[in-house]
Amino acid sequence: MAVIGWIGLGHMGGPMASHLVEAGHDVVGYDVDAGMAERAAATGVRVVTDAAAAARDADAVFTSLPRSEHSRAVLIGGEGGRIGLFDVVRPDALVLDTSTVDVATSRACHDAAEARGIRFVDAPVSGGIAGAHAGTLTFMLGGEEAATGEAAGLVGPMAGHAFVVGGPTAGIAAKLANNLMLFITLQASSEGARLAEALGLDPTIFHDIATVSSGDSWPLRTWYPVPGVVPTSPANRNFDATFTTRLAEKDLSYALEAGDAAGLDLAAGRLAMERFTRLIDEGYGDLDCSLVVKYVGRDGRTPGFDPEA
Ligand code: NAD
Repeated sequence: MAVIGWIGLGHMGGPMASHLVEAGHDVVGYDVDAGMAERAAATGVRVVTDAAAAARDADAVFTSLPRSEHSRAVLIGGEGGRIGLFDVVRPDALVLDTSTVDVATSRACHDAAEARGIRFVDAPVSGGIAGAHAGTLTFMLGGEEAATGEAAGLVGPMAGHAFVVGGPTAGIAAKLANNLMLFITLQASSEGARLAEALGLDPTIFHDIATVSSGDSWPLRTWYPVPGVVPTSPANRNFDATFTTRLAEKDLSYALEAGDAAGLDLAAGRLAMERFTRLIDEGYGDLDCSLVVKYVGRDGRTPGFDPEA
């Protein structure tokens, strides 16, 4: 049994931390949102009143925070002389950031940790809120060999798969490249679904064909944007979010930034980004990102979507 600090008990962090409790660890958690902290307390997380108190005595510290700036502030500190957790944790502690951040932030965290002799692993996840609850997330681990090896064992109770991807920032690199593909294939399945419908095909028959043919993809199987075809599709629930457009826009912006820095032309990714930005501008940032299907029809009709509902 280890003492584990957990900072950020949100939609992902809360259920992830609960699996570590189930595995017998003593999990000490903190969230700025008292409601989220309370929900985690109900699963056996020992909730404390600040991040330092959660991290100070821990063998390992996890963070699950919304955006790059939150990871930087919590781990490195800075603004207004604020102390980050790298200056608080035990010298032998392992620190893992499961948040999706940009590459520069991940690099800054590795550098800050190394400067203080702390072991840090970038440990982003894929599998969504459902995977966090089920304990079947895919972890992508980046860092020094000994640290990632230890991390792979530690994440076991939350993971379906844990990949040691490589050195510092390799985990976040894999996550951003994966999500770039996710959002491009989401666009593809939206266009395919609407074309099949326009050509008179039964959506279920077309979906059955495409899932065993070369048009197959994760969004096709999970988010098919036509009501009544796939039980997990947001189109069955007026595009209530399983993955918000705001979150998709964040992840894709980090991937595009990384592409720019590498001198790449990620044209399909930019198109997907333009669609997410449009949804947010129209006030749909909190709805599911599969609502991009809205822009395929020229008549403004979106099967399964009633903006007034
Ligand atoms: P969330 O907003 O539900 O959870 C983040 C939590 O961090 C919130 O409860 C918030 O109150 C807390 N927080 C913010 N600042 C804090 C601080 N300074 N100290 C302590 N707590 C603080 O978001 P989420 O959906 O749980 O996502 C968390 C991370 O996981 C994000 O980086 C996201 O990109 C990534 N992720 C999310 C999904 C998903 O499907 N939701 C999938 C994969 C990865």
